[in-house]
Amino acid sequence: MSSKPDASRPRAADTKKVHIADTQMTRQNWYKHVNWLNVAFIIGVPISGCIQAFWVPLQLKTAIWAVIYYFFTGLGITAGYHRLWAHCSYSATLPLRIWLALVGGGAVEGSIRWWARDHRAHHRYTDTDKDPYSVRKGLLYSHLGWMVMKQNPKRIGRTDITDLNEDPVVVWQHRNYIKVVLGMGLIVPMLVAGLGWGDWYGGFVYAGILRIFFVQQATFCVNSLAHWLGDQPFDDRNSPRDHIITALVTLGEGYHNFHHEFPSDYRNAIEWHQYDPTKWTIWSWKQLGLAYDLKQFRSNEIEKGRVQQLQKKIDQKRAKLDWGTPLDQLPVMEWDDYVEQTKNGRGLISIAGVVHDVTDFIKDHPGGKAMIKSGLGKDATAMFNGGVYYHSNGAHNLLSTMRVGVIRGGGEVEIWKRAQKENSEYVRDETGQRIIRAGQQVTKMPEPIPTADAA
Ligand SMILES: [Zn+2]
Ligand SMILES: [Zn+2]
Repeated sequence: MSSKPDASRPRAADTKKVHIADTQMTRQNWYKHVNWLNVAFIIGVPISGCIQAFWVPLQLKTAIWAVIYYFFTGLGITAGYHRLWAHCSYSATLPLRIWLALVGGGAVEGSIRWWARDHRAHHRYTDTDKDPYSVRKGLLYSHLGWMVMKQNPKRIGRTDITDLNEDPVVVWQHRNYIKVVLGMGLIVPMLVAGLGWGDWYGGFVYAGILRIFFVQQATFCVNSLAHWLGDQPFDDRNSPRDHIITALVTLGEGYHNFHHEFPSDYRNAIEWHQYDPTKWTIWSWKQLGLAYDLKQFRSNEIEKGRVQQLQKKIDQKRAKLDWGTPLDQLPVMEWDDYVEQTKNGRGLISIAGVVHDVTDFIKDHPGGKAMIKSGLGKDATAMFNGGVYYHSNGAHNLLSTMRVGVIRGGGEVEIWKRAQKENSEYVRDETGQRIIRAGQQVTKMPEPIPTADAA
C-alpha cells in the first residue's frame, strides 16, 4: 500500500465528471449518448403496440373508450401538468388534483414534479442552451430528441419548484410514479374494456399502448410544432407561435405565442372561436366548484402587446420604402443658383424651401406639362398647396422622393427641422427611421393657400 499520491487519479476523476452529453458523438460511443430507457418508452412500446394490433381486432366500444381515455389523459397533461402545476394559472380542489395526477400519469410523460420543473426552465430560458427542449437545436430535437438523447441535467436552467414540493399530491405521485404509470397507463384502460365488454387485450393494446403513443406525440408537439409553425402576434423575438393546427393536435395548447407572453393565464386561446378544449374544461370545473381562482390577463395588457408587435411590423415595412433623402442630408442651394439651373433647362421646383428635380416627371404630371412647368424656378409653395391645386397626400409623398436640395434660409424647413429636433422621439421609430405621417410632409401647408398669382 502506498500513500503516495497517484498522479493519474485526479485526472481519472476529472474525466468522470464530464457528462456524456458534453462529449463529441462518434461511431464508437454513440450508444452511450442514447437514453435507452426513454427510447423504450417513446419508441419501443409504440412499435410493440403496432405489431400486436395486427392480431387484435379493434372493437367499436374499445375504440370509443380509447378516444375518451385519450382526452382524459391528454387533459391530465394540458390542464393538470401544464396549466395547473407548471404555471399555477388556477387552483384546484383536492379531488380534482388527485384525478389530474392520476390521468396525467396515464399519459406516461414523467412525474408532475419532473415535467413542471423542465417546463418552467423552458419558459424562463426559451431558445437558449438552458431550455431543455430548445427548438434552436432542431425541430426533431424539440419534439423527442431531447428525451431520446441524454442531456446533462446540470445544463438545464434552474427553476424554483418549492410550491410543487409542498403539494402532497405532487410528492405522492413522484414517489409512486412507476405504480401510477402501470396502473393508469395500462391496467385501468385494460380493466375498463375487459370488465365492461370482455375485450381485455383490445383495451390493453388500443386504450393502453397506442393511446399512450398518440397522447405523447400530440403533447410533444407543444415543444416542437408550437415553436415552429404559425404567427407571432404578440412578440417575435423568440420562437413560440400561434397556429390552429397545433391547437387541434394539442387540446388547445396551440396559441403558444400568447402563452409564452402570458403564461399564467388559464387560457391559451383568447377568442371565443379559437379551439381550446383545455380552457373550456377548466371553466367547466369552475362551474362545478372543482376549480377556482382562474387567472386571466386584462385585455388592456394583451392589446398592448399586440399593438407593439404591429408597430414593429409597420416599422419594418416603412424602412423598406423610399421616403426621399432626409432634409438634413440635402445640400444647401442659393436661390440664385436654383433659378440659374432651371434657366439652363433643369426641371427644378422649390416648394416650402425644398428643391425638387422633376425633370423626368414633367411628362407624367397628372395636371399637365404646362402647369408644372409654370412653377419651375419659382417658389411654388402656394401653387402646390391650393393656389393652383391642393395636391394629394400621395403627391406630397412622391414629391419627397425627388428632393435634391434646400434653399438657404427656406423658412418652413428651418421650423420643421427644429420641430423634428424637439420631438425626435415622436418622429422616429425605435430603429431611428423617420416617421412621415399623412399630411405631415414638409411640403404640406396646414391650410390650402388661396393665391391669385398662379401663372
Ligand atoms: Zn414553449
Ligand atoms: Zn407553458
